[in-house]
Amino acid sequence: MNIILLGPPGAGKGTQAKLLVDAHGMIQLSTGDMLREARTSGTAMGQKVAAIMDAGELVTDEIVIGLIEEKLAGDNGGGFIFDGFPRTLPQADALGELLAKSNKTLDSVVEMQVDDEALVRRITGRYTCGNCGAGYHDDFKKPKVEGTCDDCGEQQMKRRADDNEESLKTRLMEYYKKTSPLIGYYYAKEQLASVNGLGSMEEVSSEINAALKV
Ligand code: AMP
Repeated sequence: MNIILLGPPGAGKGTQAKLLVDAHGMIQLSTGDMLREARTSGTAMGQKVAAIMDAGELVTDEIVIGLIEEKLAGDNGGGFIFDGFPRTLPQADALGELLAKSNKTLDSVVEMQVDDEALVRRITGRYTCGNCGAGYHDDFKKPKVEGTCDDCGEQQMKRRADDNEESLKTRLMEYYKKTSPLIGYYYAKEQLASVNGLGSMEEVSSEINAALKV
């Protein structure tokens, strides 16, 4: 099964994608993670996109479509979860073409609905363990010992450079201007399922599973 998780920054797409990976063996394709990896490894592309990402703007369609195209070749039969891609109409068209070219279909687009106030609260307080990736939050999920990861015991907590109020304003604006038209696009293609993204991780997960009938 190939699905898209669609929603504004902070909607919980990454968290839900990981749950789907664990439960159904699908492959998560997060363009945000791929771009951050390119930055960390210091590739020319990574250097080129760094300032754009920190400002909260979208990188070019060409770059992200290229990243996705490469990964589609690594199909393991379990299907893909597109997390943070597509984010523009040209990206959505390109994904349709790439899937068709490799005889794949898009099975569902799950829109995660979360109001702006909750997004700001979620994003400005979140951080992760730099060693194992476990997620924490200043208000909702503190580690048992401050600064120490509950899961791996390391003290390498980090925050994303773009998880600040200023970049977030731009990220939200980019979402409403360029990404939210995809809701109508996939609705018209009869591929859209909308879920309430405001509940607990487990509640949202069971809504998504019900929408996907898995
Ligand atoms: P994310 O981790 O999905 O929030 O993405 C972090 C940042 O990476 C975004 O604010 C953009 O700068 C960039 N990015 C990720 N995915 C895309 C995409 N599909 N199109 C354009 N820019 C993207």
